[in-house]
Amino acid sequence: MSKHVRVRFAPSPTGPLHIGGLRTALFNYLFAKKNSGDFIVRIEDTDQKRYVEGSEKHIIGSLEWCGLMIDEGPYRQSERNELYNEKINELISLGHAYYAFDSKEELEKLRLSYEKKGETFIYGYKNRLALKNSLSLKKEETESLIGQGKDYVIRFKNLGKGEVVCFDSLRGKVVFPINTLDDKVLYKSDGTPTYHFANVVDDFEMKISHVIRGEEWLPSLGLHWLLYDSFGWDKPKFVHLPLILKPQGKGKLSKRDGEKFGFPVYPIKWVSNKNEMPGYKEFGFLPDALVNFLALLGWNPGTEKELFSMEDLIRSFSIKGLNNSGARFDPEKTIWFNQQHIRLLENGFLEQQLVDVLEKKGILFDKKKIPVVISLIRPRLDLMTKIYSASKCFFVRPSGYDKKGISKVADASSLGVLRDLAVIFQNSSAFILSNLKSDIHEYSKKNSLNFGKVLGLIRLSLVGELSGADLFEIIGFLEKEEAVKRIETLADYLTK
Ligand code: GLU
Repeated sequence: MSKHVRVRFAPSPTGPLHIGGLRTALFNYLFAKKNSGDFIVRIEDTDQKRYVEGSEKHIIGSLEWCGLMIDEGPYRQSERNELYNEKINELISLGHAYYAFDSKEELEKLRLSYEKKGETFIYGYKNRLALKNSLSLKKEETESLIGQGKDYVIRFKNLGKGEVVCFDSLRGKVVFPINTLDDKVLYKSDGTPTYHFANVVDDFEMKISHVIRGEEWLPSLGLHWLLYDSFGWDKPKFVHLPLILKPQGKGKLSKRDGEKFGFPVYPIKWVSNKNEMPGYKEFGFLPDALVNFLALLGWNPGTEKELFSMEDLIRSFSIKGLNNSGARFDPEKTIWFNQQHIRLLENGFLEQQLVDVLEKKGILFDKKKIPVVISLIRPRLDLMTKIYSASKCFFVRPSGYDKKGISKVADASSLGVLRDLAVIFQNSSAFILSNLKSDIHEYSKKNSLNFGKVLGLIRLSLVGELSGADLFEIIGFLEKEEAVKRIETLADYLTK
């Protein structure tokens, strides 16, 4: 029988959670839920120098907003030192780790002298007996140095020969020649473990069945593999996820790309003492849309289907569907996803959002009309933050006119055209929209006017700009008197 699935998301609190990290969390979550397993969060805060205040809150807040429910944790490595102490002592007694007393200055000197020879200094099997450590010193010397309180680190004793053959579920065999690996520091001189050691100990102790993490950790796999072997522990399965690539397709997506192309890189806003960066939430994205497009960056459902709810994703997810090459990030496509998810929202939810924003702005409205407005704006609404700008024209007259719009549709004849249109509207006795449309069409034809431009003028007068809901739906909603009033207002504006 296969092991109970337990996966972990193990971020370091060195800053806000970006969408790359969120995608790692998401794949872990989907895999756990698909297999009725547990999704664990572990904060890897072994490097206190890199600790950034507020990051844990941001990480957890982002997971919550996206609906990634944590089954266990968050654990914090800084609270688990006792365990690491116990395990490092075990590794020393097994003969796979040793004390090293070399000072920073001594190591720096060595590094420079190697550099002079055109070589790279690697603390390892070739030179460790010539260095100051518990392998080269006598037992009593080691004990006395430790007794005197001399600073030391604890290093992994690498075998030095052969190769370590690892296995990654996406890439298959990954082989590291052991002589290229150094004797990595597992314990620092401040008495705390390094990332590698705490990470492996925790994955074992927490009974993690699958380690699903970013590709940037693949080079560490050799060492991790050797650590498991040294303890004689069973290994989890490893999956190293491909990178998310820049919109141009080359290189890893970075924070700077967000600034350059104008898209957010964090799920929710990040507030630091210097500034505030809006996240997907503040940009007007729905969490379902973010989850949907992130899942498709590196995972292929094997069908043409693109729209997924969280439940759909859980049902369809499998490690086999993960790609082993990078996935290009397409900011425009993310908006398309959001638009699709807005279409799927319940009416009541959108209606409430609109009511809230209108009330906040102190705009009077007839509550009975809210459902109609929502049905009119929903097809084009791509960001939740646009809910007000998209529905404003139904409640208030334009407060001004978009300059670009004016230069596009208005010319010397526009004033006369608007006056004529007001009359056509006025004379449309039953105000049947299809009749009105053909009246306008006929009028344009008779006067050799571009029909599209004429409609543009009407839109400009009703909305104030050239975008928005279907024009005749807007006319129908406003009704004759209001539409005529707005057409005349634009005419007055153009006379000025
Ligand atoms: N703490 C590591 C990170 O920040 C986690 C690596 C892993 O998942 O093993 O990405």
